[in-house]
Amino acid sequence: MAPHPPQSRPSTGPDPSAIDTSRRPFVLIWEVTQACDLACDHCRADAHPARHPDELTTSEGKHLLDQAREFGPGQLVVLSGGDPLTRPDLVELIEYGTSRGLRMTLTPSGTSSLTPETVHRLSDAGVTRLAVSLDGATPDTHDTFRGESGSFEQTVRAARAARDAGLPVQINTTVCAQTVDELPALRDLVDELGAVLWSVFFLVPIGRGRVLEPITPDRAETVMQWLSEVSDDAPFGVKTTEAPFYRRVAIQHRRDANETPTDDDIGRRLGITAGDGFAFVSHTGELYPSGFLPESAGTVRDGGLVERYRESELFQSLRDRDALRGKCGACEFRHVCGGSRSRAYAHTGDPLASDPLCAYVPDGYSGPLPEGRVSGD
Ligand code: SF4
Repeated sequence: MAPHPPQSRPSTGPDPSAIDTSRRPFVLIWEVTQACDLACDHCRADAHPARHPDELTTSEGKHLLDQAREFGPGQLVVLSGGDPLTRPDLVELIEYGTSRGLRMTLTPSGTSSLTPETVHRLSDAGVTRLAVSLDGATPDTHDTFRGESGSFEQTVRAARAARDAGLPVQINTTVCAQTVDELPALRDLVDELGAVLWSVFFLVPIGRGRVLEPITPDRAETVMQWLSEVSDDAPFGVKTTEAPFYRRVAIQHRRDANETPTDDDIGRRLGITAGDGFAFVSHTGELYPSGFLPESAGTVRDGGLVERYRESELFQSLRDRDALRGKCGACEFRHVCGGSRSRAYAHTGDPLASDPLCAYVPDGYSGPLPEGRVSGD
């Protein structure tokens, strides 16, 4: 099939390093629905087959996109789910957002609906990137994790169709005890599929994800170091989700290699965390700092998105790195990392507590450690 990139999609956004994350999110996720035909073990949304009767309507969704535009030109909007393909107005919403100058991206589920024809229709509507999930490098491992036979083949077929259509592809992978050994083979698959970005999500135990086993802090440290090495050579970018201490590991990796950390490492605020560069609007219009931190700053169904992002007490507190508690509060990397606020909340109920997945203990810190670790371990 011949490539046919659309004409009108905004191809670039603002320089990420120039974004003031107290004024606008780098990423705004809209969970357009919780409906999905898959039953993935890790599902944050506890997705189910039917759409919720109180989902934002088409006109409410367009109003939300109008609000997103007020953040500034080229705002990045990720349409997620559930499976966004279960909404019959999906193409209309993508076209609307694109016509308003938003960069519209999509995270569809790997189901039989995700055909090459669908990918081309989404591309023509203006989608600027397609993000698909691969949690195993073979049909057996991926489909077992996703609870649906055939999902691997459908996902890989869609990624190839997007690449052939000139549509950038992102691969998302969940890291937990059940998937961590797949990472080397997944790296090769991400390469083979010609993806532009590998987004590696470190499990946060909410939703159905509670039944999965997280990896240990020591294993996370090893995985981060490996990812940092992968990013040195890979033709694709590597980013972590809900594990901002990847930035701390990357800085230490460069220091150990006697390389000078770059401005991006230490001087700028490229690391985004819940409520600080990242915002999530639920299927019913509630504004959350992330999809993994279920504390609402209120509904944006009728307006107020920009104001709540900038001024709500919840979002402002999450942006104050000096208000962090425990070892994250004492850590010299808190301004470039800050820890996963979602994981801190999931483990303690306090979004400002330490991230229990990070093994790092700041020099001289003698306070309490999460997960029963002892200072000096
Ligand atoms: S202790 Fe907290 S702020 Fe420091 S590197 Fe670890 S997660 Fe980041």
